[in-house]
Amino acid sequence: MNPTLTVHRSAHEIGGNCVEIDCDGHRLLLDIGRPLNAEPDRDRDATLLPATLDLSRPVDAVVLSHPHQDHYGLLQVLPPEWPVWSGAPTDDLIGLMGDIFSLPRTHRFHHFRSSRPFVAGPFTVTPFLVDHSAFDAHAFLVEVGGRRVFYSGDLRFSGRKAALSQRLLDNPPRDIDVLLLEGTTLGRKGAFPTESDLEARFVDLFKSTPGRVFVTWSAQNVDRTVTLYRACLKAGRTLVIDVYSADVLDRLSRFSNRLPRPGSDNLQVVVTRKMTAMYRHRLGRPDFIPERCVPYGCSARRLNATPEKLVVMLRWGLFEDYERAGVFPTPDDAWVFSMWSGYLEHPTHQHIRSWFETAGATVTTIHTSGHAAPADLFRFAEAVKPRFLVPIHGADWDRHAGWFPNVMRLADGEAFEIPGRGTSE
Ligand SMILES: [Zn+2]
Ligand SMILES: [Zn+2]
Repeated sequence: MNPTLTVHRSAHEIGGNCVEIDCDGHRLLLDIGRPLNAEPDRDRDATLLPATLDLSRPVDAVVLSHPHQDHYGLLQVLPPEWPVWSGAPTDDLIGLMGDIFSLPRTHRFHHFRSSRPFVAGPFTVTPFLVDHSAFDAHAFLVEVGGRRVFYSGDLRFSGRKAALSQRLLDNPPRDIDVLLLEGTTLGRKGAFPTESDLEARFVDLFKSTPGRVFVTWSAQNVDRTVTLYRACLKAGRTLVIDVYSADVLDRLSRFSNRLPRPGSDNLQVVVTRKMTAMYRHRLGRPDFIPERCVPYGCSARRLNATPEKLVVMLRWGLFEDYERAGVFPTPDDAWVFSMWSGYLEHPTHQHIRSWFETAGATVTTIHTSGHAAPADLFRFAEAVKPRFLVPIHGADWDRHAGWFPNVMRLADGEAFEIPGRGTSE
């Protein structure tokens, strides 16, 4: 029997990825994402699993591409005996997020390394580290039953690790039967700025702003943290991050010695009341702040001193503590929203924006996508030349599928038996 591929979810939406490959009764799952539009209620996560995903039969592996919720967020409602594979940093970051959301640790992880194939039942899986806004993001080649399936995961060609994706483009996997390709940005126009472009814009802003520059970004977007840090070094400022971001950098610096971390020059950790309570009580890690943050830290009140020297992280969880410490914007300050523009509509971000606007501070957006631009997706598809291109992780594939070679449009849950070579031509 030919191997069968099923996109349980993400054929028609961005995220919530869940792809299954079956061969002679063996099963491999690629990602188990939480839909991006799901309610935050974690008690209902089991109801979010795709209806076509059979939980009653074993799988040989659940393979996670990267530590974004839309790729792993339903893991804790899968059978606990299903073996899970990920990169070691992904395991670490998923563990941290689980602690923050008070989720039980349900699975033991096996770790793969980039470019080193691993075997699960009849499946041979080769991970490829790629550029994406998440740390430790992978694409996969899956070989089974004489077929070769390539899964893009989430990738881009414009971040700090663009060379990784470019290498894949220059030496594309050969003889691919099915390419599962993400299409997040389809419908968007033009080239996307690179992280280096952003760095230059931040340097300009840091140099031209007389006061503090507050920046709202995601601590898990480590590329952006590095961009901000490098811009601070060039502009002679200090980047002030929160305790959670310090924790993320501290963990990831075990895997990469090039990352800034507590103790690096021009980096400080602001120790706030809420974060202290979270680490002491919810996370049960009372030593983390005294040991890893305080020696390189400052209080929120200190953010009012030497404003011309500071670039300050601002997230909603820090807002109250800043106000309590008497930290308010002035006309000399600036605020940068450095996330996807859709998130700016959220009431918390609207509140922050009006906080700065009312004070007469400069308000701006500096951001680039974590995903490949349409032209890059097309170049990648052309380089791989798959026998079948199966669209995933996109909301606008139907209007753009015609650009791409050999598209096999599947619905969520529709099984596709991958024919042998010579039977499709
Ligand atoms: Zn995604
Ligand atoms: Zn992602």
